[in-house]
Amino acid sequence: MPSLTELLDRAAAGGRLSYDEGIRLYREAPLHDLGAAAHARRLAMHPGDTVTYVIDTTINYTNVCNVHCTFCAFFRPEQHKEGYTMSHDRVLERVKFAADQGATQIMIQGGVNPELGVTWFEELFARVRREYPEVDIHSLSVSEIVGIAKVEGCSTREVLQRLQAAGLKSLPGAGAEILVERVRKRISARKVVPEAWIGVMREAQQLGMPTTATMMFGSIETPEERIEHMRVLRDLQDETHGFTAFIPWYYVPFKTPLRGKEATGLEYLRVLAISRLFLDNFPHLQASWLTPGLKMGQLALLYGCDDMGGTILEEQVVHDAGSTNEATRRDLEKAIIGAGFRPVIRDTYWNLRAEPALATAG
Ligand code: SF4
Repeated sequence: MPSLTELLDRAAAGGRLSYDEGIRLYREAPLHDLGAAAHARRLAMHPGDTVTYVIDTTINYTNVCNVHCTFCAFFRPEQHKEGYTMSHDRVLERVKFAADQGATQIMIQGGVNPELGVTWFEELFARVRREYPEVDIHSLSVSEIVGIAKVEGCSTREVLQRLQAAGLKSLPGAGAEILVERVRKRISARKVVPEAWIGVMREAQQLGMPTTATMMFGSIETPEERIEHMRVLRDLQDETHGFTAFIPWYYVPFKTPLRGKEATGLEYLRVLAISRLFLDNFPHLQASWLTPGLKMGQLALLYGCDDMGGTILEEQVVHDAGSTNEATRRDLEKAIIGAGFRPVIRDTYWNLRAEPALATAG
């Protein structure tokens, strides 16, 4: 059996870890050794001192949802007096707000609202594309795509094709949580099964839409189930090469029905490092500063991350669960510079933009 050092050296050099080796490193490797190997891998994949971020916003267009996940404090069931659905005009106002601040990406994402059929989204996306052509529509989780297909009585591929024709460019990897059936049944029993999540991602990627992948950890899953989640994603990436980035983030329990404890900073760093090493075929690893905050986001840049995510100008879902973190573009840049890197703005597809940074080392 290889030693931990041999495993770390192999992974840092880009060698593949088996499922068992991933679990062993995750459970047994000293945190700093794991981080050093992940950082070495990140530097080999992305040499130099740049850290990217995107100017983006999340527009939570409806909180009405028939999925009722126990970790979610954002949704309201149908007919609830606090339920809302934004008008197209209202969404467009929010897009304008973001575009005026230089956003190139908008994430329109919300609950699975059975009142909204595919035409509602087609008309919205077509308007966004027409009025704000500089903004990429990186929107809708797999759950929403599946929800629209149910409303229409058609396939998810058909929904994706229609939305792509209307302007949808790429899919965020939201709603994966942990792609293990035992976990899904316990925390989101009405959500799509892991195979369906993978199936919709495969369809989107085959249609030419790049996607990200997330992992919401820290609810009820075991370390083995975290590695299994990554194994499922790695297998699909071997097949399609359609994922641009992996974004692990931890569950914020404070105001949710599920409750539980928030993951620690050390746990977050361990997850990041093993992600960078295990997901050898994912180009980018993103620091999700929204839950752990910008200071942990800085540390994340030394544990395998090459990307600081986005400015997320108006996100509501994680805030409703009890997170209070917010950051301006200048805050993000200062955090990147403070960690010893150079901030560079990117678009959804990791094309770098020449725009100068707002913040300086001082
Ligand atoms: S996480 Fe998404 S799908 Fe689950 S209840 Fe909340 S809004 Fe609905």
